[in-house]
Amino acid sequence: MSEYKHPYRDAEFVLNELVDFDALCADAGMEEINAELASVILTEAGKLGSDVLAPLNVVGDTQHPQLGEHGVQETAGFAEAYQQFVEGGWNSLTPAEEFGGQNLPNVLGTAVNEIWQSSNLAFALCPLLTQGAIESIAHHGSDELKQTYLPKMVSGEWTGTMNLTEPDAGSDLAAVKTKAVPNGDHYLITGQKIFITWGDHQMTDNVVHLVLARLPDAPAGVKGISLFVVPKFLLDENGNPAARNDAHCVSLEHKLGIHGSPTCVMSFGDNEGAVGYLVGEANKGLAYMFTMMNHARQGVGLQGLAIAERSYQQAVEYAKERLQGTKKDGSRFAIIKFPDVRRMLTQMKSSVEAMRGLALIAAAEIDRAGYAQDEAAAKKHGQRVELLTPIVKGWLTELAQEVTYLGTQVHGGMGFIEETGSAQHYRDARILTIYEGTTGIQALDLVGRKTLMNGGTHLAELIAEIEATVNDLEANEQFAAQGAALREALEAGKAAREWLLENAPDDAAAAGSISVNFMMMFGYICGGWVMGQSALKAQASLDAGNGDPEFLTAKLATAQFFSEHLLPRVKSNLASIQAGSASIMALGEDQF
Ligand SMILES: Cc1cc2nc3c(=O)[nH]c(=O)nc-3n(C[C@H](O)[C@H](O)[C@H](O)COP(=O)(O)OP(=O)(O)OC[C@H]3O[C@@H](n4cnc5c(N)ncnc54)[C@H](O)[C@@H]3O)c2cc1C
Repeated sequence: MSEYKHPYRDAEFVLNELVDFDALCADAGMEEINAELASVILTEAGKLGSDVLAPLNVVGDTQHPQLGEHGVQETAGFAEAYQQFVEGGWNSLTPAEEFGGQNLPNVLGTAVNEIWQSSNLAFALCPLLTQGAIESIAHHGSDELKQTYLPKMVSGEWTGTMNLTEPDAGSDLAAVKTKAVPNGDHYLITGQKIFITWGDHQMTDNVVHLVLARLPDAPAGVKGISLFVVPKFLLDENGNPAARNDAHCVSLEHKLGIHGSPTCVMSFGDNEGAVGYLVGEANKGLAYMFTMMNHARQGVGLQGLAIAERSYQQAVEYAKERLQGTKKDGSRFAIIKFPDVRRMLTQMKSSVEAMRGLALIAAAEIDRAGYAQDEAAAKKHGQRVELLTPIVKGWLTELAQEVTYLGTQVHGGMGFIEETGSAQHYRDARILTIYEGTTGIQALDLVGRKTLMNGGTHLAELIAEIEATVNDLEANEQFAAQGAALREALEAGKAAREWLLENAPDDAAAAGSISVNFMMMFGYICGGWVMGQSALKAQASLDAGNGDPEFLTAKLATAQFFSEHLLPRVKSNLASIQAGSASIMALGEDQF
């Protein structure tokens, strides 16, 4: 079983060289926050991750939460770990100071979140969901709701959940049926929600559910959905948990992975009706959920990076220990010497680096949009967040499937054996392309709302920015080949954009048929962009005699690998896109 060590040098390289963290903080007037502070925070988080959370990862995988008389009992050891997490102030890094938060930049919070997600994905889902719930209440709740719930959620004393999915309402939330009936100063909620992550546990003395439901007179479809706060325990006059609310976990799902995370069927209002409080205005619930989706979707994309990193670390460790080759003198050598094992490990490392770069660049765009001094800048960065979010969620989580697959492959037969631990990463990663909007839904979002709806202008702006990196690469003889490869990929991206704008209006199936190829294609292009910048920065540091040459030359090698082995995938994406919908839509339903 492998240990987890936070790759802090890689995280710092991205924060300092690709994101320019100091400039981001200075521009926002937060000079007291800088790379040095970030380094201290990451180092401390790394200790908690490695020493406390990572050892519990396999415990959660084998000793699943249980539903008993008093609700869900989480895996042994999780409550103590959560307590340490809360006492360290880790739940409150990014929320606003007025609710007890530390108001640190989102990009730093994201870099720290990678540590929790790599250490123990199942555990880390709980704070991830709490962050999402905090966001929703902070953005849309009344002052009273904020004052009542946010301080304890920000500190981590109470956790949060997101109750969207119902048996008949998954990707299509317009079909939500849960009811909310006005009853004095609150509403009574009745209905069933499924697949609710960390829907119940004993780690805290309250759980704050955010629930989508319909008022009796609500219009049909998405325009009739409202958002409610439904606490597990109702509060007394002093704001302390008192009477049990009529909101219960009635069963736990048995699933492929993330076993340490209880996935609950939640029943609201089986008896007297669950007391809920309206968030914001009636019938705007889905719009409210969408405002926190950039964070949540980027958060799940980050999980893709995190599990890929963990799988990579474990594969490297195994490849250095496993003796399989025999030299002429009869002595044996480790499998890491075989070129094909090198291929797999380098692909994992190169993918992980591109994923981290893109995840943190996108996270920093959320900060830049928030800190912008003028409306134009806020709009520009906001549009970039919108555009990058489905790519971060979709591409990173799809790549995580391949990286964790390779992690298992490097282990040979032992990869298939549970005790080794590699199989857990492979299983745990599988949910990432499904929840918080499937890959198909992310891809539709990218081609529809994020591209067609603005005539492709936001994508054209991104392409222009990537072109500047291409020019920088081409201007340097050492990187001319990488520049040419990225230019070729970018030309393919331009052709795909043109194809979409041209064909979508006339062919109803066009956008949906090409969307996943389109999303993956721009994932690889963004990956090539990130790795190109990474190579240029690493070489500049080498030229200046700064930093560790071994670390920096490895950056050059992984960038070259990405350019030679992953970027060419863009060509096959383009071929599929240009083939259009014909063969995809050819079969009648009875021919399947
Ligand atoms: C372990 C786990 C934890 C979860 N945690 C939570 C949680 O905390 N809170 C919560 O509310 N939900 C949660 N979910 C639910 C999750 O978000 C949904 O499962 C997911 O959004 C997909 O919905 P669905 O399962 O109904 O699939 P469906 O919507 O039935 O999709 C099935 C297939 O059809 C495709 N599809 C559907 N609609 C379209 C379309 N319009 N265009 C193209 N393709 C389409 C999908 O891409 C997919 O391939 C969780 C699920 C799991 C398994």
